[in-house]
Amino acid sequence: MTEDKKVLIIHYDEIALKGKNQSFFIDKLIQNIKNKLGSVRIRKGSSKIIIENYDESAIDLLKLTPGIATIAEAFHVETDLDKINEAALRIAELSDVKTFKVETTRAYKQFELNSMEISKDVGAFVLRQMSKVKGQMFKVDVHNPDLIIKIELEKDKTCVQGQKIQGVGGLPVGTAGKVVCLLSGGIDSPVAAFEMMKRGAKVEFIHFHNKTINKSGVEVKIRKLVERLETVQGKSKLHIVPFEDYQKDVIANVPADLRMIVYRRIMYRIADKMMDKSGAKALVTGDSLSQVASQTLENMTVIYQATDKLKLAPLIGKNKREIIDIAQKIGTYDISIEPYEDCCSFMIAKHPQTKSKLEDVLEVEKGLAEVGKG
Ligand code: ATP
Ligand code: MG
Repeated sequence: MTEDKKVLIIHYDEIALKGKNQSFFIDKLIQNIKNKLGSVRIRKGSSKIIIENYDESAIDLLKLTPGIATIAEAFHVETDLDKINEAALRIAELSDVKTFKVETTRAYKQFELNSMEISKDVGAFVLRQMSKVKGQMFKVDVHNPDLIIKIELEKDKTCVQGQKIQGVGGLPVGTAGKVVCLLSGGIDSPVAAFEMMKRGAKVEFIHFHNKTINKSGVEVKIRKLVERLETVQGKSKLHIVPFEDYQKDVIANVPADLRMIVYRRIMYRIADKMMDKSGAKALVTGDSLSQVASQTLENMTVIYQATDKLKLAPLIGKNKREIIDIAQKIGTYDISIEPYEDCCSFMIAKHPQTKSKLEDVLEVEKGLAEVGKG
C-alpha cells in the first residue's frame, strides 16, 4: 500500500441540515480549506469532503476550521481482503490506543464475505499483529473501544478509516457576513471573536491603543493574538487606533467613576464609523454579564446606547472558567496572559460606578471633543 492513498475524511454536522443551501456552505468550506492548506487535492463525497496530498500539519489546522465536525485519517485501497487488513493494521499502528473494534458497511453485496465476517476477519488480523508489539494490553472492546476502524466496502475501492478527531463544528467562516470585534489584550475578546467565526462570521479587529503608557509590547501582543486567530479564519484585518488624545480629554472632563463607561462609548462610536466603511454588520465585544464593573446590565445599557449598530456579546452567559477553557483550546490563552497595560486601566476609579445613568453620562460628555459627545 502506498502513502498517496492516505486521505483525510472531513464530516460536517450543521451544514448537513442546510437543505437547499447546502452547496453554498460546502463550497465555502472547501474554499476555506484550500486557502489554509494550499496545494492539497479536495473532493466532495456524499456528505463528506475528502482531502488528498496533505501533510501532517493539516490536521491541526482543520481542527480549528469552523464548519468541520470531525476529521479522520483513512486509506483508500483495492477491494481485496489482504489490502484491507494491511490498511486496518496501519490505522491501528498510527493510533495510540489500547482497545478497538472494526465496523463494516458493504455496498458491494457480491463480495465473498458479509459485513460481520469482514469485521471479524480484519479484527482478528489486527489483534494478532498488534499483540506481537503491544502484548496482551491490546484488546478488542465492542462496547466502548478507544478506536473504531471503519470499513466502507465498495466494488472498486474500499475506505478504511481510523480515529475521528473532533473539530469545532459550526459553520464555515464567510457564510454569515462580516463583523467587527473590539479586541483588547485580555482573555475574553479573542474568545468572543472565535465564537463568531464558529457561527460563520468573518471578523475584523479594532484595538484602541495608548502609545504613551504602552512603550512595551501591547501592539506585539495584539498582533500575536490576531495571528493566532488567523489559524481559525484565515487572513484578517486589524486596525490599531491611537487612543491617547481621547483619554486625555476624558481624564480632563469626566469624573473617575464614569471614565470606563465613557471610554467604551468613544470606542463604540469610532467602531461605528469604521463599520460604515467596511460594511461590517455587527459590533462584537468580550462582555460577560457582571464580570467587571463595565458589564453590569445598567452600564452595558449606557455603553451600548453609543451606537445603533447591532451589538453582539457571545460570551455574555459564559463563566470565566468556560471562557478560559475555550481560550486554551484555540491557543489564545498563553498570549492573553502575557503581562500588559490596558489603555483603559489608566486613571480609573478604585470604585467605578456600577449603575450609571444615561443622563449623567450624556451630561459629562458635553465637555468632550466631537467624537466623545453623546
Ligand atoms: P477582555 O478580557 O476582552 O479584555 P475584560 O473582561 O477585561 O475583557 P473589559 O476590559 O471591561 O473586559 O472590556 C470589555 C470589552 O471591551 C472587551 O472584551 C473588548 O471587546 C472591549 N475592549 C476593552 N478594551 C479594549 C481596547 N483597548 N481595544 C479594543 N477593545 C477593547
Ligand atoms: Mg480587558
